[in-house]
Amino acid sequence: MLAVALEEARQGLAEGGIPIGAALFTRDGRLLGRGHNRRVQENDPSVHAETDAFRKAGRQRSYRDTVMVTTLSPCWYCSGLVRQFGIGTVVMGEAVNFQGGHEWLREQGVAVIDLNNAECIRMLGDWIAANPHVWNEDIGADGACGHAR
Ligand SMILES: [Zn+2]
Repeated sequence: MLAVALEEARQGLAEGGIPIGAALFTRDGRLLGRGHNRRVQENDPSVHAETDAFRKAGRQRSYRDTVMVTTLSPCWYCSGLVRQFGIGTVVMGEAVNFQGGHEWLREQGVAVIDLNNAECIRMLGDWIAANPHVWNEDIGADGACGHAR
């Protein structure tokens, strides 16, 4: 499942965007939707990897037996989506470069699995080091890193 999210992240990178990918699966492994962050590509801050995959999946009767797979710990916006729609499981590639709401999701009863995947850590880590301003924009950290805009 993570391989699909990683493919999406690589595609985002190739498009000049932020390399974060996600995919929504059924519990038994059927792919419902996949996507990647397109803040840069579409000048749309609402297109995170998880929201993209969620929208591509279309209407689902229930999300309890679905799995949101993402290359990075889901931000508060995407954690809210998981909670709102009752997605049962989150599989994340890493929580090293960024920690969103995954601990809160655990407290809400969501099964959260951290794969601590080296390729996820390296790809996004390298990208953040090269693009700190776009990254701070994406996570809503207004100049918090101290870099001039
Ligand atoms: Zn997000």
